[in-house]
Amino acid sequence: MVSKEKLKKQVSKTADAMKTGVKKAAGKGRNKSVPPHRHCRMCHVPIDLKRDPPICGEENCAKDWEKNKKNERMVRIAFFVFVIIFMAPLIYATIVGR
Ligand SMILES: [Zn+2]
Repeated sequence: MVSKEKLKKQVSKTADAMKTGVKKAAGKGRNKSVPPHRHCRMCHVPIDLKRDPPICGEENCAKDWEKNKKNERMVRIAFFVFVIIFMAPLIYATIVGR
């Protein structure tokens, strides 16, 4: 559970970090805002916005991306199963308990 106070603190912290980030960028004489772009999900080099999958094209990154995708699917399935196992008795009790 996250307390409201903690959340507030975190939000202001993030806002401050963003402010200083913008200041730094402006100080270097760059564009005021960073142009829209994305990063390779594996090695974080900047890549084209429309790139799909969002990786840079390095062989290692492609391999890791595939691995990650499989992992993500497994996690999703595991989560889904967990939710069903957890919810089923509740739903059952709600239906039968009436
Ligand atoms: Zn990469």
